[in-house]
Amino acid sequence: MPEFDWSEPATVEETLDVLASFGEDAKLLAGGTWLTLVLRQGLLFPSVLVSLRRVPGLDRIAIDPDGSLRLGAMTRHRAVERSPLVRRGWSALADTYADVANVRVRHQATVGGNLADADYASDPRPSSPRSARRSTPSARAASAPILVRDLIVGHYETVLAPDELITEVVVPPVPPGAGAAYLKYRSRSHEDRPCVGVAAMVDLAPDGACRRLEVVVGAVAERPQRIGDVLASTTGRPLDDGAIEAVADAYAAAIDPLSDLRGSAWYRRRMIRVFVARAIRAALSRAGHEPGGDWNGKELPA
Ligand SMILES: Cc1cc2nc3c(=O)[nH]c(=O)nc-3n(C[C@H](O)[C@H](O)[C@H](O)COP(=O)(O)OP(=O)(O)OC[C@H]3O[C@@H](n4cnc5c(N)ncnc54)[C@H](O)[C@@H]3O)c2cc1C
Repeated sequence: MPEFDWSEPATVEETLDVLASFGEDAKLLAGGTWLTLVLRQGLLFPSVLVSLRRVPGLDRIAIDPDGSLRLGAMTRHRAVERSPLVRRGWSALADTYADVANVRVRHQATVGGNLADADYASDPRPSSPRSARRSTPSARAASAPILVRDLIVGHYETVLAPDELITEVVVPPVPPGAGAAYLKYRSRSHEDRPCVGVAAMVDLAPDGACRRLEVVVGAVAERPQRIGDVLASTTGRPLDDGAIEAVADAYAAAIDPLSDLRGSAWYRRRMIRVFVARAIRAALSRAGHEPGGDWNGKELPA
């Protein structure tokens, strides 16, 4: 492990001051589950680690008056998974965090760290359309939120400047009567990162017509994949077996998956097809509709 200085600022402002004075030589430390691995491997060699553990308020879970969920950047995965607030309104998100790694990692790993490490094989990232608030020295705590899909610009690369930090993520409410689900497909061990991870949200009108369908596929490319025109084509139509299979086919055709140890591009394309259809059916089931197809609910956590 390389040698480095240690800083433990007591406020967001102090953190920003330390980051501004060290620039590229400083590295933020949250839960450390990712950072300690890359430090040990000698892939990064900061001169100072800036721990966020003494900054108060960064681990808050709260609901805004408009119904949005706020998760502080230092909220541990385990806290999200077990929060009654999150379970009540965003059960698919709670399930997603519960599916990361193992319980030891989840007790350490944070919401902000998972976003900021920009690993393509992240479970939480596709799980909900969300934005992150960041603080910069010029805009301080009041800086505008950034969409999560715009945060990642490449493999392990974000738009965050060295003197910026994520303070919280904001998750919009799931519309009343809608259902959401996240399905993670692991191709190797039970604790592995996803080979393919699909988040789906379905909102149907009383006559069964689709008001809104959201499907985001993670772990198959640098950034989570959402195919807007395919989703828009379902609006106003029944989300029957034919429509679900058509969306799954279109996602498999549109995404150009990467190959890695968890699966080749060829294999991933087939799994995208299977898991997009299943995730839509899981979301329908969560919304109290009959999902049809070969869906048997086994993959949906209780
Ligand atoms: C054994 C193992 C299994 C795993 N399995 C999975 C899995 O199945 N699915 C999955 O999604 N992930 C998995 N992970 C990844 C894990 O979720 C991430 O390592 C974790 O979320 C990173 O969070 P952290 O708080 O530990 O971040 P750290 O390691 O402390 O930091 C990660 C990076 O983010 C930066 N950073 C941290 N906080 C902030 C902030 N607030 N603002 C800006 N930058 C910040 C740090 O400088 C660093 O570059 C696994 C990790 C391990 C070790």
